[in-house]
Amino acid sequence: MPSLSKKIDRIEESQTIAITSLARKLRAEGKDIISLSAGEPDFPTPENVKLAAINAIQNDFTKYTQNEGTPELREAVAEKFRNDNHLNVKAANILISSGGKHSIFNALQTICNPDDEVIIPAPYWVSFPEMVKLVDAVPVILPTKEERGFTFTAEDMKPLLSRKTKAIIVNSPSNPTGSVLDEETLRGIAQLANDNDFFIISDEIYEKIIYDGHKHFSVGSIPEAQDKVITTGGVSKAYSMTGWRIGFMAANEEIINRAAKIQSQVTSNPSSISQAAALEAVRGTQSEIEKMRLAFQRRRDMIIEKLVKIDGLTVTNPGGAFYFFPSVKSLFGRKYDGQTLKNSIDVTHYLLAEARVALVPGAAFGSDEHIRISYAYSEKELTEAIDRIASAISRLR
Ligand code: GLU
Repeated sequence: MPSLSKKIDRIEESQTIAITSLARKLRAEGKDIISLSAGEPDFPTPENVKLAAINAIQNDFTKYTQNEGTPELREAVAEKFRNDNHLNVKAANILISSGGKHSIFNALQTICNPDDEVIIPAPYWVSFPEMVKLVDAVPVILPTKEERGFTFTAEDMKPLLSRKTKAIIVNSPSNPTGSVLDEETLRGIAQLANDNDFFIISDEIYEKIIYDGHKHFSVGSIPEAQDKVITTGGVSKAYSMTGWRIGFMAANEEIINRAAKIQSQVTSNPSSISQAAALEAVRGTQSEIEKMRLAFQRRRDMIIEKLVKIDGLTVTNPGGAFYFFPSVKSLFGRKYDGQTLKNSIDVTHYLLAEARVALVPGAAFGSDEHIRISYAYSEKELTEAIDRIASAISRLR
């Protein structure tokens, strides 16, 4: 076989996807595995949204659409960004793509030149550094501390700035930590971006899933930073539409036109049927969002009570999204079957084998002392899973 791309040798496979697939395979083989690995709401897609998709099929809305997304959906998303996020945008500032991941990748492709540096606060979502590498730029990791709720400020970023700094990726609420950046912090980052001329890619996919009086603030709403911010989001998490693959980007028109050029050569428009569904999600009743948010909050509150009782885990209460990111450092050195747990991968392997619960090791998110537990699952599954985890941990010596 001729040689293959060397770049791909330097890219990690997405662990969120890999572990979710492994759990699915084990279950298909008849194994009793509970998977808390994927960040995927367990609720069905709302009825009105499903109906819009069925109508789209029946009305033969099954051909290519405009490359950038349908004019109706672009306008509806612009309206959503104006109303919910206070962005100063119109349809021409919106690009519809095949999922939030696609939107972030398009953004990076649009702004990065080889060797540009992109600052990524850690713990980070698994795909950020790999996407940066895929566009030949360099991820520069900004570690954050659990004691500070995994947040950071513009001041923390300063030592990492260089002539090559092209962007920072902020993700609030965060996957995997659930941390939320407040308005003051985001204003500081925007000021720094203006002073030093770099972009802010603001991944706001979890904006609707936020608790305890935290308020989502969109950095793109700051008028002075408007041209520096690329805001990305999508319908996957808020409307339980992960499989439909609709994401969007809001940015200045030049960025949108360039990102659309990339899209025109690589994927063309996202699915016409999914766009019809997304239009209903964004324009139709928003009542399901609050129901789901409250359910996530109930689950979070239920699980934290159990997690704090497990000897060996230290956990912070997430302010948003639907993940716990407990520290498992105290488990390192504990033994089972003559083996010693040394890192987050050992811990997740042990819990898969002994508790039959699939989780993602923190190493995949840039923190080898943690594991990620998604609570976008039913209360029954969550209760059973946490009991199994507690029991498996208690068997360690
Ligand atoms: N974003 C979700 C997660 O972190 C879905 C999987 C993925 O796309 O990475 O689990």
